[in-house]
Amino acid sequence: KADIAMYYAKGEGRNNVQFYSPRMDENADKRLLLETSLRKALDNREFRVYYQPKVDIVTKKITAMEALIRWEHPLLGLVSPGEFIPLAEETGLIIPIGEWVLRAACMQNRQWLRQGLPQMRVAVNLSGYQFQQKNLLETIRGILGETGLSADLLELEITESVIMQNPDFAVSVLNQLRDLGVHISIDDFGTGYSSLAHLKRFSVNTLKIDKSFVRDVEINSADAAITTAIIAMGNSLNLKVIAEGVETEGQLSFLSDNNCDEVQGYLFSTPMPADKVAGFMREYGGMVEAG
Ligand code: C2E
Ligand code: MG
Ligand code: MG
Ligand code: MG
Repeated sequence: KADIAMYYAKGEGRNNVQFYSPRMDENADKRLLLETSLRKALDNREFRVYYQPKVDIVTKKITAMEALIRWEHPLLGLVSPGEFIPLAEETGLIIPIGEWVLRAACMQNRQWLRQGLPQMRVAVNLSGYQFQQKNLLETIRGILGETGLSADLLELEITESVIMQNPDFAVSVLNQLRDLGVHISIDDFGTGYSSLAHLKRFSVNTLKIDKSFVRDVEINSADAAITTAIIAMGNSLNLKVIAEGVETEGQLSFLSDNNCDEVQGYLFSTPMPADKVAGFMREYGGMVEAG
């Protein structure tokens, strides 16, 4: 309580709350506040799930909606996942939080289907801690059963670095997930040091090129080379390749010219609340097949 009392709203609105502490160690204070409130955030219903479309580069159809968690702290306003996911991992809270996102996303996809939206996958980011859980398979099977979502309409995004922490272990988990029928993407691809030799053992469907390579793909020849190499590697291994962080027409042309399969980024849409998705699909209009 005392920690919370040290936060004072300065200026307008809850999204503009500034951290203020008379004490020396502001970072430690902020961490403590975040940690105590993170423990209560699920019960207090402070998490939201936003969705960002993935688009087929040729047909322009939406293939999936990626679920991205948002935390609306009553005093701090929006806290970014970059800030609280690491804390959730350190405290173990990522397990219940991650399970909540999975269930929310699967329920949401079922609801979109019932509303008559075109069929698409919902993609959920898995933390390394979830990936290592012994009961991961049971949890996912349980949530699919509970929500009635078919496994092929769920996609899991697992980062390359998580997979590469223990490639042998990853091979066995990925095989089990594949047998379950869910779609699997390697997120932030290009940052995690896997080789062709590793890749051929991983039963995944998609490589997702990290946005750090996409950003300067038109002006930086190393980024361009890495991007085209990932696409070529994906193609030759029969994997789909998607680029994240696509913001400009120029980046899109580069990716299209180099046979990237799918794109995702602010050029198409920023992550949006679930209730904006139907409208977005309508507005996207002719580019999307009617459900
Ligand atoms: P990610 O899965 O690689 O997601 C991509 C991030 O890039 C998202 O940030 C997204 O909002 C942002 N982004 C999308 N399009 C663009 C663009 O065109 N330009 C730029 N500059 N950025 C773009 P966000 O939502 O802040 O999430 C950050 C990371 O937090 C995610 O990276 C993911 O690793 C993690 N995360 C988010 N939601 C969850 C979750 O439910 N569970 C877990 N375990 N991690 C999550
Ligand atoms: Mg992701
Ligand atoms: Mg990513
Ligand atoms: Mg990322």
